[in-house]
Amino acid sequence: MPDSVINLYSDTQTQPSAAMRKAMADAEVGDEQRGLDPTVTALEEEVAALLGKEAAVFLPSGSMCNQIAIRLHIRPFGDEMYAHRLAHPINAEAAGAATISGALMMPLEGEGGTFDGATLRARMRDPLDTHEPRSRLVTIEQPTNLGGGRVWTMARIEEVLDVAREFGLRTHLDGARLLNATVASGESAAAYAAGFETAWIDFSKGLGAPVGACLAGSAELIAEARRYKQMLGGSMRQGGIVAAAARYGLQHNVERLAEDHANAKFLAEGLAELPGVEIDPATVETNIVIFDVADAQSLHDKLAASGVEMSLLEGRVRAVTHLDVDRGGVEKALASVKDALS
Ligand SMILES: *Cc1c(COP(=O)(O)O)cnc(C)c1O
Repeated sequence: MPDSVINLYSDTQTQPSAAMRKAMADAEVGDEQRGLDPTVTALEEEVAALLGKEAAVFLPSGSMCNQIAIRLHIRPFGDEMYAHRLAHPINAEAAGAATISGALMMPLEGEGGTFDGATLRARMRDPLDTHEPRSRLVTIEQPTNLGGGRVWTMARIEEVLDVAREFGLRTHLDGARLLNATVASGESAAAYAAGFETAWIDFSKGLGAPVGACLAGSAELIAEARRYKQMLGGSMRQGGIVAAAARYGLQHNVERLAEDHANAKFLAEGLAELPGVEIDPATVETNIVIFDVADAQSLHDKLAASGVEMSLLEGRVRAVTHLDVDRGGVEKALASVKDALS
């Protein structure tokens, strides 16, 4: 067994730092279910302001943000939602959109987990044809996850939103890593969220908190979201303990995401020079690096044996940089890939 593990499996692997744990220990708390936890309330107000929305609700996970948002938008009588084939609700939420909301999920194709306006338009249904499902919701990931951490350009988002407006679709932004996109592009979170009725951010990824996410939208939608939060068992009691970690992450761990992006780029550039590895470093825009090798499973296992954790995805290898892996760690990971392939 190697004595220390370089964990590039995901940015969900971060451990709460000593300072974050101190903020949690010191948090003022109350009964969150009754709206009486001051730390949760402060976090919800901060996220609503950050995303330029009227209100926000603190939830245990990003998956619950997606599921509640989908439930808000989808009527369980034949509605169809559109998302990229690699989108999280299609691949990693246990078919909740079908089970909880009765949504028909229509996967779209496009580069790096994104799609264009024409691709969405081609899928729009005839509302008068009773044979067809009803076009109802479009959701995008900014940045993409399984698509490789790609950042949607504002122009591409506008294309999709134009189609949504033309066909009367509801709109949802999965912003699990939205602050990675803002740090990478210089756009604001509110600018990205502006055209979407619901949007959310995750605290348990690059921001380094152990738990939690916040879903934002109009006061009316978020009031309704609180009913679904209760229904799904997402209401907490002294939630301020974990909300404090989220607030700490927002205050201290946003600008530093640029280091994770630089490390991901460094890793991609190093990988591109290795014989047998296929990756275009220009496609690495945030903290996710996905690359091809002849035998991904074998590389993955050899890396694990040498103390480097990466994940497998459709026969490809994925590495995610984060605040618990520094440049030295990335250099070691790169050396391990080189050894494993030679
Ligand atoms: C991680 C992730 C989610 C789910 O968030 P959890 O907090 O892990 O439930 C949803 N969408 C995307 C794009 C993600 O990366």
